[in-house]
Formats: sequence, structure tokens, C-alpha cells
Amino acid sequence: MECEHLQQNLKICNCTYDPCPRKGNCCLCLHYHRRMGELPACYFTETEEATYNRSISYFVSRRKR
Ligand code: SF4
Repeated sequence: MECEHLQQNLKICNCTYDPCPRKGNCCLCLHYHRRMGELPACYFTETEEATYNRSISYFVSRRKR
């Protein structure tokens, strides 16, 4: 089933991991990363996102400074 907001989501998605099948499908993206103890790309800055480190600990470490 295709998300009815897919094209709209893709316009604001900052994720650069192109092979991902969840790109633009925010529900699947969020649940996937949540299961992994992570956050989706959109929580991260451009520089942070490029590391592909989606861990919560990395997110927190970047905001402690
Ligand atoms: S943040 Fe993760 S699940 Fe979401 S589009 Fe990027 S790689 Fe895929």
C-alpha cells in the first residue's frame, strides 16, 4: 500500500540514504528506527545525517555542547 502523502513527504525528507525502501513513508521510517533504538534522519542536521548514525546517544551527544 502506497502512502497517500508519499510525494509530499519526499519533498521535506532530508535522508540521503537513497536505497532505503522506507524513504518518504514516515510511518514505516519512524517505526523502523524506533525498533532499532534510533531516530529518523529528520531529527539530525545535514552534517549529522550524513554520518548515518541514527542512534539516540549520538543525537543527545550532539546537543549537549
Ligand atoms: S531515516 Fe532511515 S528509514 Fe527513514 S528514509 Fe532514511 S534510512 Fe530510510
